[in-house]
Amino acid sequence: MDGSIIRGDSGIKSYVLDFLFPNRCPFCGGFIPYNVLCCEECFSEILWADEHICPKCGKPKRPDCLCKESPEYSLCASAAYYSGIAKEGIYSLKFKNNLNAAAIFGRALRDKLSEMEVIHSIDLAVPVPMSPKQKRIRGYNQAEELAKHLTEGTDIPVRTDIIQRRFSKTAQHTLSEEDRKREAERIYFTDLHGTPLSDMTVLLIDDVLTTGSTLNACSGLLLRLGAERVICAAAATV
Ligand SMILES: [Zn+2]
Ligand SMILES: [Zn+2]
Repeated sequence: MDGSIIRGDSGIKSYVLDFLFPNRCPFCGGFIPYNVLCCEECFSEILWADEHICPKCGKPKRPDCLCKESPEYSLCASAAYYSGIAKEGIYSLKFKNNLNAAAIFGRALRDKLSEMEVIHSIDLAVPVPMSPKQKRIRGYNQAEELAKHLTEGTDIPVRTDIIQRRFSKTAQHTLSEEDRKREAERIYFTDLHGTPLSDMTVLLIDDVLTTGSTLNACSGLLLRLGAERVICAAAATV
C-alpha cells in the first residue's frame, strides 16, 4: 500500500502543540517530528490487507470465512491484518490518545474503497458508536476519528445520530460467539423510525473486525432503516 505519512494538519498549530505534547509514533511509541504520523520503518512493517483477505466479509480467506454465515453487509474493506505493528497502532488509538493511527488507517481505507470502485456509490458514513459514557471517558470515539480521515476530501457526510450504543459492562472479547451476537443485538439500537435511509448505500466504519457480530448488528439496523446496501470498513481484521 502506498501512502504518505505526512500529517494533513502539519501547520503552525501542530508545530506549537508539539512543544507541549511531543508527537509519538502510534506503532513503536518513539518520538517523531511534528509533521509526520509515524516512523517510516514502522509504516513499512504494517501488514496491509492483500489478496488473501476476502473482499466480501473482510476476513482472511478461508473456506469458513464469515461468508458462510451470510453477513448482513454486502462488502467489507479491511485495511490491515490485526497483527504485529498494526495491533500496536490500534491499541494506541484506543487507549493512548494517539490519533495518528486513525489518519493512517482512515487514508488506507479510502484508497481501498477506491480500488474496490465503491467509494463513489457511498451516500453516507456511519461510525460504529460507543456509549455516551464510554465516549466521555475516552474523550473521543476511534471509529469516528477513522471516519473523519476516511471521508476527507470526499463529499460523504459522517452521521453519528443514526445508531446508538447502550452502556455495557461486559467486555465483548470475554463472550462466546453466540453470546457476542446476542449482546451486539442488545446494545446497538436506533431512535429513528421509518426508512430514512431508503435507496442509500451506507458505509459502516469500525476499528477491528473479529467475529463480525458488531458489524452485523449495526448493518441490520441500517437495513431496517431502509438502506439499500451496507459496505463496511475496518482498520484491521483478525
Ligand atoms: Zn515507530
Ligand atoms: Zn468471506
